[in-house]
Amino acid sequence: MPIYDLAILKIVEERALNKKVCRKCGALNPSSAEKCRRCKSRNLRPKKRKIGIKR
Ligand SMILES: [Zn+2]
Repeated sequence: MPIYDLAILKIVEERALNKKVCRKCGALNPSSAEKCRRCKSRNLRPKKRKIGIKR
């Protein structure tokens, strides 16, 4: 696999993983979000999960 493909895959993977989930309403927010975009709650938890790269 070419190097640029791996780089893109890494970025995509990080974007998919770096999300924040609202503990109050369960909405998915961007990792940069300070407050929930749906209910404005600050009770967000980072959604971090390791997923293996399938070959
Ligand atoms: Zn919320």
